[in-house]
Amino acid sequence: MPTIFTKIINKEIPADIVYETEDVLAFRDINPQAPVHILIIPKIEIPKVTDLKGSEHSELLGKMFDAANVIAEAEGIAETGFRTVFNCGNNAGQEVYHLHLHLLGGRKMNWPPG
Ligand code: 5GP
Repeated sequence: MPTIFTKIINKEIPADIVYETEDVLAFRDINPQAPVHILIIPKIEIPKVTDLKGSEHSELLGKMFDAANVIAEAEGIAETGFRTVFNCGNNAGQEVYHLHLHLLGGRKMNWPPG
């Protein structure tokens, strides 16, 4: 089912887009949890991690992590370090059911996460 992220992909609502290819889009989170907080999404609708299949999506996942590395370099957090997170389902606090990779950086992260 389409989510707000489909509207962002279709440019029906605005977003601060930092990276775009044929397959992947990345934009700043509207409610940032770190100085750098970017969401990297596939342009196709995949609701969540449990919908991923290695046989179908491995290349797409590779492209999402390629995006993360390019963006981390551009944002100046590649050397200092960053965190990449997929929240999946209710217990992880997933709010938007369109697969997204959080890229967080620019501050020291805690572990274990909350
Ligand atoms: P989740 O909790 O599902 O892993 O993360 C969803 C993220 O999407 C949240 O961090 C939230 O702030 C962000 N978000 C929700 N709606 C919008 C929106 O319309 N625009 C942008 N840029 N971010 C959004």
